[in-house]
Amino acid sequence: MVKRVGELAGNSKTWGFATTGGTESNIQAMRVAKKGVAKKEGKLSKGKLGKSEKGNIVVPESAHFSFDKISDLLGVEIRRAPLDEDLRVDVGGVEELVDDNTFAMVGIAGTTEYGQVDPIEELGKIADERGIFLHVDAAFGGFVLPFLGRRDWGFVKGVDSVSIDPHKMGFSTIPCGVLVFRENVMDRLAVDTPYLTHRSQYTLTGTRAGGSVVGAYAVMRHLGWEGYTKIVKECMRITHLMKEGCEELGLEPVIEPVCNVLCVRCDRAEDVKNELMRRNWYVSAVGEAIRMVMMPHVSERTVEEFLRELKDILRKYN
Ligand SMILES: *Cc1c(COP(=O)(O)O)cnc(C)c1O
Repeated sequence: MVKRVGELAGNSKTWGFATTGGTESNIQAMRVAKKGVAKKEGKLSKGKLGKSEKGNIVVPESAHFSFDKISDLLGVEIRRAPLDEDLRVDVGGVEELVDDNTFAMVGIAGTTEYGQVDPIEELGKIADERGIFLHVDAAFGGFVLPFLGRRDWGFVKGVDSVSIDPHKMGFSTIPCGVLVFRENVMDRLAVDTPYLTHRSQYTLTGTRAGGSVVGAYAVMRHLGWEGYTKIVKECMRITHLMKEGCEELGLEPVIEPVCNVLCVRCDRAEDVKNELMRRNWYVSAVGEAIRMVMMPHVSERTVEEFLRELKDILRKYN
């Protein structure tokens, strides 16, 4: 499982473990980083953060809310770097926020709200130069981007860990996330487990269910990378149909869809969303936009029905 997920991120020689999802993976990655991992000439070594120092993590403004939990749990400051006009993190903004107490940087491959991918290669350069741990949160994009032929987001130079959730776009049952590391740094999380047959444990949860992990592995074996490629290509085709349909209704996309997530600008987005929800269409509103995720069950017919209803609602509101 770890090997296969590592493969998705561009490196099958990884270390890692299954988690309950993206939140836990992010927590664990940040714990590894905080436990004194810094880089010297690209290799991970003992960190520069003293025991008493709290440190900070530089994340994009678009980072998932799990980083608020991390701030609380680890007692560290989260610094949010601004985004550029395409809603990717602004690399200059990241550089400005990084200081001697920064022990981790985060890039996102498939942002939760817009499905955008940060310039991971550029973040990798900063991470290597400054000797900072770099984590890529690909909870959503990890099962999308490789099947669109993108190789610029996973274990590129400078990246130390990647989080990918089979339970998002991997066709697997909840809960199943996977966290993979470029080097074997998991020992930094190990605690002794005297009463168990295993001597130590590095996962966050203790006793846990293995069913969904086995299930996720079985799905991966069953579909194969070709199976996922077909599914993802179809999701992207549906996403573009939806985009064109929205444009015909005068709703412009906030960014060109990168993953199967579409956000379109819409006046009174919140009201339109509420009316859609009343009619059993589950979408969300982000800022002044309607956000739609074209999961694999969304068919061409569904898009047509949705657009008809959306047209009707827009007529009433405008
Ligand atoms: C969904 C998501 C998470 C959180 O994952 P959970 O499985 O809900 O814990 C973290 N990061 C990103 C980018 C996500 O899309």
